[in-house]
Amino acid sequence: MTRIVISEFMDLPAVESLRGAFDVDYAPELVDDRAGLLARVADADALIVRNRTRVDREVLAAAPRLRAVGRLGVGLDNIDVAACEAAGVAVYPATGANSLAVAEYVVATAMVLLRGAYLSSNDVAAGQWPRTRMSQGRETAGKTLGLVGFGGIGRMTAKLAQGLGMRVLAYDPMLPPDAPAWSEAGVGRRELDALFGEVDVLSLHVPLTESTRGLVDAARLARMKPDAILVNTARGGVVDETALAAALRNGKLGGAALDVFDDEPLRAGSPLAGAPNLILTPHIGGVTRESNERVSSLIAERIRAFFPA
Ligand code: NAD
Repeated sequence: MTRIVISEFMDLPAVESLRGAFDVDYAPELVDDRAGLLARVADADALIVRNRTRVDREVLAAAPRLRAVGRLGVGLDNIDVAACEAAGVAVYPATGANSLAVAEYVVATAMVLLRGAYLSSNDVAAGQWPRTRMSQGRETAGKTLGLVGFGGIGRMTAKLAQGLGMRVLAYDPMLPPDAPAWSEAGVGRRELDALFGEVDVLSLHVPLTESTRGLVDAARLARMKPDAILVNTARGGVVDETALAAALRNGKLGGAALDVFDDEPLRAGSPLAGAPNLILTPHIGGVTRESNERVSSLIAERIRAFFPA
């Protein structure tokens, strides 16, 4: 019987849908047990992971029968795609299935940080009444959103932001100026440095590659308006965390929301700890109940199609 190892959490009905036709080893604890993972994939035909299981040469060597890897999400930086290809292992990301969850995260955190007022619970509960300090909150409508990367999530974010009355600009060098996506979405094209200077909210939607690593550095942060907001749901290495913490502390940036980090989990003692107007979340931008169902059923479907009965 075809054997599937699942090393991170997956929506249970999707796991159940695979049982019967497959020998399913659902073991989400394996993500934190490398030795266990290497032992359990020894006779696996398929491996299903999220973003924390490293699928590298070591795993491939330990799994001689492996034919397919399902990724419960998008972003393949935890998977050595070239090594998989060389070993004849197909890789299936859940492209598009969590875009809406990420796009909602972006507009929600941007609204919270622009308005400021929702971060006052502790003060109000303590009997303070910071009404004067909080009366400078900003509206979202009429503000300009800049997107770095105008792929699936960038476009979904543009649509939600336009629904709120935002103007949207984007930088994506892979998308030619005459590509219909620009005019269809009503999004203006900009060069990278110009985009940084023009927007009220900047949101990142690029994969982590050699060209995007460190893309948001001290020099580019200095180009941003001092009250602008940065949202990073892409990958940690895209933003220089030390430079961002300094910009927030020095009042050179209005606020930031980070869902992804250089090192995950973020280590205690990071320069980000205690920086003002900063929302930190544990890489859950793409994870909601609904997106987990969509992502899981899509990957279950891909695996079923790969190993027809
Ligand atoms: P996508 O492939 O549809 O879009 C990525 C876009 O980035 C493409 O249009 C590409 O042309 C562009 N791009 C590539 N290199 C670039 C560069 N140097 N400068 C500017 N643009 C560049 O991917 P997507 O579905 O929109 O996802 C984007 C990223 O979001 C993923 O790679 C992943 O890392 C991240 N992500 C995070 C979460 C989360 O939970 N936080 C969830 C899903 C995806």
